[in-house]
Amino acid sequence: MTTTHSLINQLIQLQELVVANMQKKVSQPNARLDELTKSIKSLSEDVPQDIKAHFNRLLTKHPEAIVPVANELCSGCGMGLTTSMVQAVHLSNELNRCPNCARYLYYPEQLVERERVSRSYGEAKKTGISRFTSPELMMLPLKGTTGEEVLGEMCTRMQEEGFVADGAHLLDLSLQREAIISTAVDNGLAFPHVRGVEGGGLSMAVGISKKGVKFGGPGRTLTRIFFFVVIPTATSAFYLRLIAGLAKAFKDKDAREMLLQCKTEEELWKAVIKTTRKTFK
Ligand SMILES: [Zn+2]
Repeated sequence: MTTTHSLINQLIQLQELVVANMQKKVSQPNARLDELTKSIKSLSEDVPQDIKAHFNRLLTKHPEAIVPVANELCSGCGMGLTTSMVQAVHLSNELNRCPNCARYLYYPEQLVERERVSRSYGEAKKTGISRFTSPELMMLPLKGTTGEEVLGEMCTRMQEEGFVADGAHLLDLSLQREAIISTAVDNGLAFPHVRGVEGGGLSMAVGISKKGVKFGGPGRTLTRIFFFVVIPTATSAFYLRLIAGLAKAFKDKDAREMLLQCKTEEELWKAVIKTTRKTFK
């Protein structure tokens, strides 16, 4: 027998894998997806049939099928939930669904709160990639020699610059995400991320490791360019387009070299804007 609590964790992991699968499909159309497909299959084996069916149906309509309750709201659709509903989700004696959008709900241990809510991608003045990132989030050189150290540096910067309230918690969540399946892709790129963040727009830090660090599984080349993305639930669908765009822009060796050759964070900012100009209008 699976408890509701472990079932919820299973569904969250399953959702990450399904999204990772979509992400791989857009960023590496010719990649072999066997490993991911296998993991998805084995993880979903003991999920009850009716739940699996509903879960998959939700994922065809939305980028997320299971979402956290935030401030007594369903963070998928924004619908206000009754106090008794919130309590039921918190107790998790059974699986609960949002009465409005039918997404599965879970009670997060702690949500990462974003402080800079002004970074919304709907802002009028900003164009191109600067809708999702800013000069303070360009990091060069990353000093870390392990994946964890590199992610730690990036989370610290996001906290220092006021993009998230708690960098250490952000690091924990991003490591949990990496543990499900690495976000490293080909050509020395990686897209570490944390989803399910409350409020605000998407924000991204860009970090360059001159030496490169081991970030993916065995056999993967060293990762040199990190795009760390904090993703509020409401922007999840958009996130996939962002990743697809970045993967497309940096499939080009010259574009990658341009970032790797930068000597200052200011140069990196200019290079990021220049290399993504055609992809993000
Ligand atoms: Zn809802």
